[in-house]
Amino acid sequence: MAADIRVFTCLTDNFGYLVHDSASGATASIDAPEAAPIIRELEREGWKLTDILITHHHGDHVGGVSELKQRYGCRVIAPHDKTSKIANVDLRVANADVVKVGDLLARVLETPGHTLDHISYVFDNDKALFAADTLFSIGCGRVFEGTHPMMWDSLLKLRALPDDFRLYCGHEYTASNVRFALTIDPDNAALKARAEEVTRLRADNRPTIPVLLGQEKAANVFLRADDPDVAARLHMKGADAAKVFGELRERKNKS
Ligand SMILES: [Zn+2]
Repeated sequence: MAADIRVFTCLTDNFGYLVHDSASGATASIDAPEAAPIIRELEREGWKLTDILITHHHGDHVGGVSELKQRYGCRVIAPHDKTSKIANVDLRVANADVVKVGDLLARVLETPGHTLDHISYVFDNDKALFAADTLFSIGCGRVFEGTHPMMWDSLLKLRALPDDFRLYCGHEYTASNVRFALTIDPDNAALKARAEEVTRLRADNRPTIPVLLGQEKAANVFLRADDPDVAARLHMKGADAAKVFGELRERKNKS
């Protein structure tokens, strides 16, 4: 039985995600930006929260944890973090650890760069990737704590996942990411197709997530920093992919 996944908005532009295992009744929230919308979604479905899978320490990903833990007594899973910035944690996980949500299995991938503690959760059987603030649709997270080579390496780990996996990311930033990507990659047919799709979805007030990873690999310029065409657009022919990635990230920061 495949995971039942719900997508909704938290705060202004964070995504809330519930992953439900109908066989066991277990339900996980991926991060907890704020409690109220998560509780509303659980009640609408008649689900009980059993687990919170935290990706990193930022407040807009953990703000609802203590209220949800108090209400449901759920288990809180978070990345290993020497600075212990995340409270109420029951289980600390690291690369290649597997977390059980009922009968569902979530594999941990360490994807540092945005923060040093950032992890992504891969539900291999369900072909679902929760990449939070490492990989956005047509973008990637800002590099706050790590380095550009570190973030590029993390993106490569995610790019190595199969094309038919669905990406669930941390924020609805797709439209703004598309505007920037078109300035670098204007002739990319996959990007232009995604741009049209995003315009349609946002006009209907619908989320642009999930998206197939195969589609992202073709359309997301941040996943193509090792493509000679992208380097050429930046006048960086022959440059190291991590450097090209760094230049892309810097330009996006200023855009
Ligand atoms: Zn963040």
